[in-house]
Amino acid sequence: MRELRFNSADELAHAYILLSPSAEEREQTAQSLAAAALCGAKDGVPCGRCRDCRKVREGIHPDLIRVARLSDDKGKKKREITIDQIRAVVADSVVLPNEAERKVYLIEDADTMNVPAQNAALKLLEEPPRGVIFLLCAANAETLLETVRSRCAEIVCGAREEESDPESEKLASAFLKCCAAGDEAALFRLCAANESMDNAEATAFVSAAIMQLRDMLCKRRNSLSMSDRSVYDLESLMEKCLAMLRLNVSVKHVFGLLAVSAIRK
Ligand SMILES: [Zn+2]
Repeated sequence: MRELRFNSADELAHAYILLSPSAEEREQTAQSLAAAALCGAKDGVPCGRCRDCRKVREGIHPDLIRVARLSDDKGKKKREITIDQIRAVVADSVVLPNEAERKVYLIEDADTMNVPAQNAALKLLEEPPRGVIFLLCAANAETLLETVRSRCAEIVCGAREEESDPESEKLASAFLKCCAAGDEAALFRLCAANESMDNAEATAFVSAAIMQLRDMLCKRRNSLSMSDRSVYDLESLMEKCLAMLRLNVSVKHVFGLLAVSAIRK
């Protein structure tokens, strides 16, 4: 995948869930985000050249803290990340960073956090100490509590799925433009003009919008000045629409929902 780039680390969300079945893909995305958070460059992070970027790459940055499952006496990885490990993170997170201006906690296999551990992490994700960023790597978001998921921006790592047809892509772009601009009248017109689509066409449109929103979260696509939070909320709404279409809810109803909910008041 292309390197993630941000104008400054201030653009980063305070917590991400990085999803991929491949540990290597999760790790690559996590490293890019960690470097973006810790990089000392003033314009465009990660710069890839400074001391912080180099140390992240070499795995020796003191402000990138890894949390992984512990091993037993025989060196075999335990099944779960425990509450004690998360408590240690809670205690450590209030300590100022060593070298960078921020601190990053990378939780490997975050989907193996047991429920008490996830609950302990909740408060931290809700109100993280200033300058602290959490990266939760997971193969599967299903085992994470909804309360945890709702506090993190989700990034699906790795290769982009197949392009959908150009018509759906175009409509999805127009739709996202209305949402980003907060143009309710234009959104209403777009929804009204397309409510007679059949289920397959509507599914293609919604899927294209989801992919574009995920690309925005991964910085593969311009987010039209929407915050990560807004992009994430909109992506959740589109996922809900996709589920509705799969259940054969009428297309008119789905566009009706989008017309009233895609722009947050
Ligand atoms: Zn740098």
